[in-house]
Amino acid sequence: PTESIEQVIDRLCVKIPDHPDPGILFRDLTPLFADSQGFTRTVDSLAEAFEGQFDCVAGVEARGFILAGAVARSAGCGVLPVRKEGKLPRETYRQSYQLEYGSATLEIHTDDLARGSRVLVVDDLLATGGTLEATGQLLHRAGLHIAGFGLIMELTDLRGRAKLGGHRVRALYRV
Ligand code: AMP
Repeated sequence: PTESIEQVIDRLCVKIPDHPDPGILFRDLTPLFADSQGFTRTVDSLAEAFEGQFDCVAGVEARGFILAGAVARSAGCGVLPVRKEGKLPRETYRQSYQLEYGSATLEIHTDDLARGSRVLVVDDLLATGGTLEATGQLLHRAGLHIAGFGLIMELTDLRGRAKLGGHRVRALYRV
């Protein structure tokens, strides 16, 4: 019997206790990204979960970029980069959000996509949801339709899903 996608993710996720701070169990997905079967199945699973529902894939710098390009190629569509502040050269929307210590700012170009485009947002992991909440706010300001949020992993205890405004959320592995 072939492994389920949950089993593949579980096998290729490395857990690092107390990183980057005491008490945090960091889940490193780079071995999943590096594995040909693991990466292909992950990308195809995310694309299939939202098949026919999106015109473009948004990825958050930096790990989200790895997924967004591949999911977009799997579906035959384009990519919208959601960047850390100060990187994009033209007019942008900017959205700040709270981190555990301090804050961060994300940006998108105001005109990369036509208003009304359906955008799937992908990222590696949903924790508190602050990053994807800010991403959703940026897409909303740009007049884009949020097709949903596709994650490899969701840390359900942190209730990040509640911040995502009732949009469809598909996490391949929930813990
Ligand atoms: P969030 O709290 O949902 O805004 O999480 C922001 C980002 O931090 C996610 O995209 C993850 O890449 C990363 N992250 C948060 N918690 C963890 C964790 N326990 N293990 C690995 N990455 C994490």
